[in-house]
Formats: sequence, structure tokens, C-alpha cells
Amino acid sequence: MATKYVFVSGGVTSSLGKGIISASLAKLLQARGLRVTIQKFDPYINVDPGTLNPYEHGECYVTEDGAETDLDLGHYERFLNVYTSRANNVTTGKIYESVIKKEREGAYLGKTVQVIPHITDEIKRRMMLLGKTGNYDVVITEIGGTVGDIESLPFVEAVRQLQWELPDEDCAVIHLTLVPFLSAAKELKTKPTQHSVRMLQQNGLQPDVIVCRTEHHLTPEIRRKVALFCNIKPHEVIESIDAKSIYQVPLAMVEEKLDEIIIRKLQLKAAKQPDLKEWSKFLDKLFHPKHEVNIALVGKYVELQDAYKSILESLIHGGAANECKVNVHSVHSEHITPQNVVEKLSGMNGILVAPGFGERGIEGKITAVRYAREQRIPFFGICLGMQMAVVEFARHILGYADAMTTEINQNTPHPVIDLMEDQKRLTTKGGTMRLGAYKCTLEKNTLAYKIYGQQEISERHRHRYEMNSDYLPRLQSHGMVATGRNPETGLVEIIEIPGHPFFIGVQFHPELKSTVENPHPVFVHFVKAALKHSKQQAAGVTINSI
Ligand code: GLN
Repeated sequence: MATKYVFVSGGVTSSLGKGIISASLAKLLQARGLRVTIQKFDPYINVDPGTLNPYEHGECYVTEDGAETDLDLGHYERFLNVYTSRANNVTTGKIYESVIKKEREGAYLGKTVQVIPHITDEIKRRMMLLGKTGNYDVVITEIGGTVGDIESLPFVEAVRQLQWELPDEDCAVIHLTLVPFLSAAKELKTKPTQHSVRMLQQNGLQPDVIVCRTEHHLTPEIRRKVALFCNIKPHEVIESIDAKSIYQVPLAMVEEKLDEIIIRKLQLKAAKQPDLKEWSKFLDKLFHPKHEVNIALVGKYVELQDAYKSILESLIHGGAANECKVNVHSVHSEHITPQNVVEKLSGMNGILVAPGFGERGIEGKITAVRYAREQRIPFFGICLGMQMAVVEFARHILGYADAMTTEINQNTPHPVIDLMEDQKRLTTKGGTMRLGAYKCTLEKNTLAYKIYGQQEISERHRHRYEMNSDYLPRLQSHGMVATGRNPETGLVEIIEIPGHPFFIGVQFHPELKSTVENPHPVFVHFVKAALKHSKQQAAGVTINSI
């Protein structure tokens, strides 16, 4: 069977959830026995989102092979439980980079290099790349941005050409749009959808399915109206109503028969029904929790939900695994001081200190670590969060009051966290961190070993600084131990405080590998520890400070 291509575009506004619709469709096709992958094409000019501030586009998701990518790839992996790679995220910057490189090599043989055909050809080549591997029955391509944006045009044109070039049964186009509800008129309005589909059609693209994001159910008349104006059948107008959880969307799409429509259009040989047993079990646990915990997420980008997307999703997975509702309290690290820390963090059953870069909010993170350590509250530090746990310990247990990471203070007399050796030579910022999967060997009889249940693990990374191993003997003799290290370089990957109920800091990013079907063990155990803490609190057990 030839690889089939589904393209997903968006209209009217951004943030309609194209990523979730793409991931949900992929999940349903996968649950019918098909091999599916999803890729995202982003119209911005950055070569990758690695250099973007999280306020711009949310978190930067890192793949196994070390690509810094759009956060939607996180959804793809969480839904499909299959790794993505560098090839799954392409930006305008990447397209131009390769076209310009070819031009400099003289590959265009004296031709004028133009958007059409050179840029569009390169977009098409990349769109087909994963399909050509023979590893997939279906490749779903999400086009970032909104139809009508100037920068999206070459992508829409590339899809138009592919729709024309490919056999009808090999290509489907889904357009996601908004059907707003005007409360004053008490009516759903289809005009924005009509305009955005017209825009798509003006660009030569005919959608096969229109997915309408809406806050209220679409009436049959509304479906008919959208169908009529957009040149499709009413059953090809799909309702995507606001859901309690993104993980409900695949089931909602089964109801709307999105998978059936695509299977029919692409003449796919697939199982009659999607097998969603595991998925439904997860939803059941998610919606019928037996317990509840409060976890503080201490970070500096807390205003923006998307900045810590993978961490928030991993807490949901870890919560469901424990049949526990996790109430995440976002606490701005910039606002935590030694004077108000009790007020900010009291009542928390777990404290997670987030990754990050730069000075802003760093003292608040250190204060939060200290509170968790002294009050014996389950602590989980990720990347910068782990580094701050080391700084905190060095300051308050070893007595090095000015211990710091050299990221913030290059002249500290106690650089307990320092720039990695091979980072010292680098001058460019894009894609030059220690990125992607690296192995880690765990010490037996440690919390980490108990969590993973095996000695060799592999986790993803995104950092330039590391724990300075000159300080390791002093830290270890005072009770902070390194329990996971890179087998080749000895780089410290995990630190723990053995006497504490649950204190773990990891240099890597476990949140990038948690999926619905495979919740990450560190998150599962962190929630479990928080649950134990909450039960002890309820029983009135007083936990002495150390
Ligand atoms: N800024 C730190 C470093 O580069 C931590 C990075 C992170 O938290 N992802 O090492």
C-alpha cells in the first residue's frame, strides 16, 4: 500500500488545537492497526524553536535524536507512544537554509531561485520524506499558522501541488476552523469559517473535511450550511467541542467518524473499529480519581500554560497511574522569598522546580528547594531545578554562602555547577546545547534505581551546564549523593538526599518521555510520594525539620 498523506490546515485564529486534532486522528488510525506518524511544518523563519523564548511559542520539545522542536511534537508522542525525530519538524528557516546552501553550491545551474518552484519543491520534498522511508501507512502533516498569513503561503501552495500530483485516494486535506458563539445573539456563526475556507479555495485547495471548533453543539442546519458553502457533504463537517481533557478528543472524533471519513477517502485497509481499551482505561482513571494531591510547580514562565506543557501532561499521566487528581499550583519563582516561602508553599504535598535559563527567578527556586528539603516535602528538580538543588545544598549544608552556577555568576568562588567542557569552545547558540538521548547508569539501592527498576536508562537532555564533580566528594559526605551518571563521561545525571522522604534532581528532562500509555516512572513515583505526604498530613503526623 502506498503511503497516504493527510494535511491539516487551520483558519480564523491560532490555538484552535490543530495539534490535538492531528494527534487524535493519528491515534485512531494507529488504534486500527495502521502505522502513522505526524509532522509539523512551521512558517516562522527561525531554523528551529530552540532559540525562541518560551513566551513566544511555549516550551521547546526535544526529540530522541536531539532536535529542538515545536511543542506539538510532544502531543504526537504522548498520544501515539512512538518517537518522532528531526524530520518531523520543519520550519521556513530550515527550508530556506537548504535552498540557499544548494544555490551556493551551484546546484540550480544558473537558474533564478524563486519561491515557486524552488522553495515549494523543497517543502514538498520534506513533506514526503517520512513517507518515502516505507515505515508509515499514513503521514499526517500539520501546517502551523493560519491560512491567509503571508508566511504560510508557500506551504499551502506546496499542499495544493501535492493534492494535484498525488492520486485522489492518497491525499486528504482537513481544515480546522472556529465556529464562534455570539452570546448576545445566542447563535453560532459560520461566516468566519466560510471566509477561511474561501481563502483556502482561492489558494487552490479543496478541503475534504472541515473540523469546527466550537463551544456549543453544531445543529444539523449549521452543518448543512458549512457543507454547502464549503463544497463538502454535511457528514464531512466535524464538530470539535471544547473537552474537559485533550485526551478525550480521540473518543469525540470516533463519535464524529473522523477516522472513518479519512479511511474511506484514502481507501485504507484498517481494522473495523479502533482498539482504544488502554486509552479508555487511562481516561477512566483520569476522571474517577480516588485521591488528590497539591503540587507546586515553581518556575518563571508560569503565566503561560504552554511553557511547561510536557511537565503538566506528565503530572496528569503520573496522577492517573496513581488514581490521583493532581492539583498543580503554579508558583512564580520570582515572587518567592525566604520571608514568604511558607505562605507560598504551605499545603503543598510536592514541590517541582522547573527547568530554565538565566538569572530571573533563580533565588526563588533556591528558596523553594530549601523549603522542600527542610520541611521534608517530596521534591523533584528538573535540569535547572536539579542544579539549584545542588546550589542550595552547597550554600546551606556545606556552608558555601556564595555557591552558584557559573551561568549566573562566573566569578563565584564555589562554582558547583559549571559550563560543560565541550560547550566552552562554542560561539553559536542554535542547536549547540547537549541535546537528545544519552545513557545513564544508576547506582543500586537508591531512589532512582527503585523508581526505574533497572540500571541502564536513557533520557533526553537540553543543557550547557553540569554539576562540577570537584565538589562531589564534599556533597556526598554531607548527604547529597549522585545516583545516576553518564557511563562514558561520568557527568552527574541524578542527585538524591537519601534521608529525605523523596528528594530527586535530574539533569535530563523526563517530561519529554511520558506518554498516556507509558507514564514516566519519576512522575509516577513523585505523585506517589506526594500522596503519602498528603495522607501523613491528614493523619496529623508532624514531620520534623532536618
Ligand atoms: N540553564 C541550564 C543549563 O543550560 C539548565 C537548562 C535547563 O533547565 N533546560 O544547563
